[in-house]
Amino acid sequence: MTTGVQPTSGNGQPYGGGRPRILVADDDPDILFLLEHVLGKAGYEVLRAADGAEALALAREQDPDLLVLDVSMPHADGYAVCRQIQDDGPGGPPMIFLTAQAHTAARVSGLDAGAVDYITKPFDAEELHARVRAALRTKTTRDALAVEAATDALTGLLNRSQLGPRVSELVSSSRRHRRPLACLMIDLDHFKAINDTYGHAAGDAVLVETARRFATVGRTEDVLIRYGGEEFLALLPETDAAGALAAADKLRGALAAGPVVVETETGARLPISVRASVGVACWDDAMGDAALLIAAADEALYRAKAAGRDRVQLAA
Ligand code: GH3
Ligand code: MG
Ligand code: MG
Repeated sequence: MTTGVQPTSGNGQPYGGGRPRILVADDDPDILFLLEHVLGKAGYEVLRAADGAEALALAREQDPDLLVLDVSMPHADGYAVCRQIQDDGPGGPPMIFLTAQAHTAARVSGLDAGAVDYITKPFDAEELHARVRAALRTKTTRDALAVEAATDALTGLLNRSQLGPRVSELVSSSRRHRRPLACLMIDLDHFKAINDTYGHAAGDAVLVETARRFATVGRTEDVLIRYGGEEFLALLPETDAAGALAAADKLRGALAAGPVVVETETGARLPISVRASVGVACWDDAMGDAALLIAAADEALYRAKAAGRDRVQLAA
């Protein structure tokens, strides 16, 4: 289950795993060869593109950590590639322009187009290295901040800020491919009583363990979000009503299977019985808007609560 956001190096590798991947694009084969040689020797993984169109396609397909782009290339110049990468959305690779045009206007155009840096040809290998390192450092910091902003600090799950983008993406994919998509709204039963009886720290520990148990029973494609205090939301792609009911019962059962053991300040181990109610809704193109999927799951949850809690309810 996608329970959190892994910091990536841009090529899907966690930080520290794999070498940074740099895409170099230049229509001059000698320069391309030189760039590949210099950067490859420095330990980077190098991807090569001979023109702008190829650079754009490779960038989208291979998710490099950095682009080093010649400004004048056939089939989309460096500026055009840069603009299109930015149009693909935030979180794209930083870009450094490489060009023979050393005058200020050209440098300004490059930076205004969204590049983080600018190197003039003929380039000095030392300087290229230093600028590449600086751009990669910036990307590492930016990615770490994005991960932090998307993560719930207590449970490590995705936080609510991720719901909008994730649900939109899954709904459009479900529409496009005519595939099912389900949403589960999960709320712990009488959680206030756990806080009141055992204290807020014990309540927090219960939330952490709940998230851990949920994460172990889901599939990798499922998206699990901490929706609110003791409310969780799961988006299950490729899942119809029968599958969603089964998944919901697995989540419910993961809590019912055994008490959450919480250690108190005095070191005593307290077994706390935890239960949850789950509302289940399935995407239907007639809903029109992703918000209606969430609302339907929420309404089903309300009915699960009203019917006595510790149960799963399918939306009407
Ligand atoms: P119900 O079965 O109807 O869902 O009852 P409930 O007690 O679970 O629901 P209610 O909404 O009344 O209470 C939720 C409680 O969750 C109240 C709030 O103080 C607590 N809570 C919310 N966020 C946190 C948190 O991060 N940590 C802890 N320990 N408690 C939290
Ligand atoms: Mg609640
Ligand atoms: Mg509750």
